[in-house]
Amino acid sequence: MDFEALREQMVAVQIRARGVTAARVLAAMRKVPRHLFVPEAYRDQAYEDHPAPIGEGQTISQPYIVAEMTQALGLAETDRVLEIGTGSGYQTAILAELCSKVYTVERLPGLHAAAVRILAGLGYENVAARCGDGTLGWPEEAPFDAVLVTAGAPVTPPALLAQLALGGRMVIPVGDQHIQSLTRLVRTERGVRSYDLGGCRFVPLLGEQGWKA
Ligand code: SAH
Repeated sequence: MDFEALREQMVAVQIRARGVTAARVLAAMRKVPRHLFVPEAYRDQAYEDHPAPIGEGQTISQPYIVAEMTQALGLAETDRVLEIGTGSGYQTAILAELCSKVYTVERLPGLHAAAVRILAGLGYENVAARCGDGTLGWPEEAPFDAVLVTAGAPVTPPALLAQLALGGRMVIPVGDQHIQSLTRLVRTERGVRSYDLGGCRFVPLLGEQGWKA
């Protein structure tokens, strides 16, 4: 299969046509080989307009939602980013293209190990990955310029908000276990502002400051 052509088409039809226009985000989506992050059995569907199973009941997010969330973070090349829910590692790679360093946390050891292997194979040296409960963040490396949560939370974990720098942006799905609102939070000198980006559906964020496992 011509994966490069499929990627071009994915960006044109699913992402740019739906309103994601940030040039650096589109370039990253064109570049990262998404098919390497999905299990072999689903490789031919890697560039289709839907999430795909990655094992252990988890999913790699739909390409459009990855692009939308990434654009909403408004990343600068010098930013340090915290990602909760490494999963396949695909979103991690997109972030790594756009900022100086990504700190990513995954609770399932099997997915963590697989993602680390793929990211290393692709040569991403600006990614630090940890296996554990991401609802507690990564306090030793805080504060972060951006925080991205790719699992659905009942509320925004206070630990993650506490690790967001002044001027920092967080994107997190908040709601019940079936449907969430994609929420963009910005820390300003006057407090935290919140914007609703619309409905979405993610697997649950399980942990001390998430849903109980
Ligand atoms: N961005 C990923 C999405 C994976 S699905 C991708 O596109 O591949 C969400 C992931 O969040 C799952 O792998 C799940 O195991 C993980 N997760 C859920 N709760 C978590 C927690 N408290 N800490 C870290 N990861 C968590």
